[in-house]
Amino acid sequence: MSKLPASSSLARDARPLTARAGVLGLQGDFAEHLATLERIGVEPVDVRRPEQLDTIDALIIPGGESTTIGKLASQYGFIEKLRDRTAEGMPVWGTCAGAIFIAKDVPGHPHPLAGLMDMTVERNAFGRQVDSFEADLDVAELGPSPFHAVFIRAPLITHVGRGVDVLATLHDGTVVAARQGRLLATSFHPELTRDERFHRYFLSLGKP
Ligand code: GLN
Repeated sequence: MSKLPASSSLARDARPLTARAGVLGLQGDFAEHLATLERIGVEPVDVRRPEQLDTIDALIIPGGESTTIGKLASQYGFIEKLRDRTAEGMPVWGTCAGAIFIAKDVPGHPHPLAGLMDMTVERNAFGRQVDSFEADLDVAELGPSPFHAVFIRAPLITHVGRGVDVLATLHDGTVVAARQGRLLATSFHPELTRDERFHRYFLSLGKP
């Protein structure tokens, strides 16, 4: 019986979906994302310079302070490069402040943002009294068991464009996770739990 050549589609399918995944390491909880990537067997890259965007297959923008992330990303020349890599098809996932950073519309935001995903995001929308809360979400894309989501001064996705799918809502219908092609936004922090399903789902978006 002849062996399959290494270049056959079968052999290709057996490779990991994403070899190297980056996390924007300018500010925020990038270390937790890097640790999660390592746990699921993907090479994590702490991205500090725009040139590094050429060396990765997918990028996560962490939670933190969107004003700081936006200011630093713009100062260091990330925005143009990130827009180019996204146009080339690189998957990008924004968690919390990262979701604000990738949104096209953030009313009243004082600093430059990447403006990648067709949605409106309101900062600190849950109000000061409810700075943090946790909720079990039904996310059909992740399978039947609920996803335990941690919200910390979370933004709200108040409007999504036509090409954007809503992946999860709170009981009152508030949108907290959405996807537009290879762009993913969650207003909560999957990197703060031991449930790696969102990370795996994100990495699968790069699949040809
Ligand atoms: N409220 C923060 C902001 O506007 C986001 C909070 C977070 O990332 N946990 O940047």
